[in-house]
Amino acid sequence: MTYQPDMKRWQDMDTHDIVGEVLGKTFVCPACGRTHRADTQILDIGPDLLPSISDRIAPLGLSGRPLVVFDDNTYAACGEKLMSGLSRYNPEPFIFHRDDLHADSFAIGRVMLAMVNNPGFLVACGSGCITDTVRYSSLRTGVPFISVGTAASVDGYASTGTPVIVDGFKYTYAGVAPRAIFADTGVLMDAPPKMSAAGYGDVMAKYVALLDWKMAYDVEGEDYCPLIALIIAKALEECRSLTDDLSARRPAAYGRLMEALSLTGIAMQLMGNTRPASGGEHHISHLLEITDIQKGKHGSLHGDKVGIGTLITMYMYLQMFSDGMPAQRPTLGAAAWEKEIRRVYGTLADGAIAMNESEPPQGAVWEEQKRKIERSMEAYGYQHVARFATLLPELKERILSIGGPVRPDQLGYTVGEAYNAIAFGKEVRPKFTTLRIAERFGWLYDLADEISSGLAEGKIY
Ligand SMILES: [Zn+2]
Ligand SMILES: [Zn+2]
Repeated sequence: MTYQPDMKRWQDMDTHDIVGEVLGKTFVCPACGRTHRADTQILDIGPDLLPSISDRIAPLGLSGRPLVVFDDNTYAACGEKLMSGLSRYNPEPFIFHRDDLHADSFAIGRVMLAMVNNPGFLVACGSGCITDTVRYSSLRTGVPFISVGTAASVDGYASTGTPVIVDGFKYTYAGVAPRAIFADTGVLMDAPPKMSAAGYGDVMAKYVALLDWKMAYDVEGEDYCPLIALIIAKALEECRSLTDDLSARRPAAYGRLMEALSLTGIAMQLMGNTRPASGGEHHISHLLEITDIQKGKHGSLHGDKVGIGTLITMYMYLQMFSDGMPAQRPTLGAAAWEKEIRRVYGTLADGAIAMNESEPPQGAVWEEQKRKIERSMEAYGYQHVARFATLLPELKERILSIGGPVRPDQLGYTVGEAYNAIAFGKEVRPKFTTLRIAERFGWLYDLADEISSGLAEGKIY
């Protein structure tokens, strides 16, 4: 029987129940008319579930020996439990012995080589890097995979896109969703605290991402779904005050954070892209990450940088829209822009230049866009931005209370690197976000300057 979602009923349900209904289903959306599909069939988060994992995955009908991918840390965290839980399938382990693991050409190549015995399925036991590495290998080989999350650190578990670092640039390749996601709350709780702080930052990013997404729909006609936005907004609110329970090390709180991260990943599956979960705040984070790769620096956690990007983009929205529409200021000319992109992107500049317009839209096109921005701000934007005035200090305190960073210098970035990320993070993707709004009104480079130097001096927020 075809699944018939009930939008009205969903308004009153919590995200856990909504997502429970859509897992493994394909349906025509009552809100946007598109066909949405969630390939992940099982989302199972709870205490001590690894010993019974063979029973839990039985409904998936997988067969053959699994190749179970770990690194030294995740093997130490739960390797024996997981391997013995899977013993019915005669699993084969593969363990990465390096602590600078990234989802990159090396890691993917290494997993593909380890598939020499033709595994029946893959198991990714880890957080972002291992999951993405296995995801890409799964897509290329057609061998299905399941995810065993070891830290509530990132929303990428359920995602279908695969961010992969190739020759110093982070590309998002196609990927495939895990058939099932498991997480043992005891394992999540024992992960380094900074990992759940990063996961909290990655969830809170959605306050900005949802506004950027709706604006992109209104201004540039990007695909949008109110239902998916609703799922994320609910998960976000359910998670906001979790920091008290995380500080008190209550296992259930780690489970709820992991669930919110998984739900936003499933929302990306339903939409078919990362837009519901990623806006200007992620672009700032991506450029900081490129800086790390170029300098050969061991990268900080994704969610750490995203949390910082979230506070920064909230501040930008507040600066631009606290007093009505921003006044128009001069924008950067094409020649100056290209010079800056070459300075910031170095060997990656040609790619960034090819992917982006060299100047923001001008004349009638921009006038029309401005009218649309104004209409959107009046309809919902001013209200959303007004909330940032209290949310920004609240989230800052909450992130700090669980040991996360709130300023780029806390992660070792210089004022110049922070400036570059705020000013030129937008060229990582040609998408409409906070950063593009600031660019088009001619505010971006002044704001980047004010924020990067102000934050290092302990001002701004
Ligand atoms: Zn929809
Ligand atoms: Zn993220």
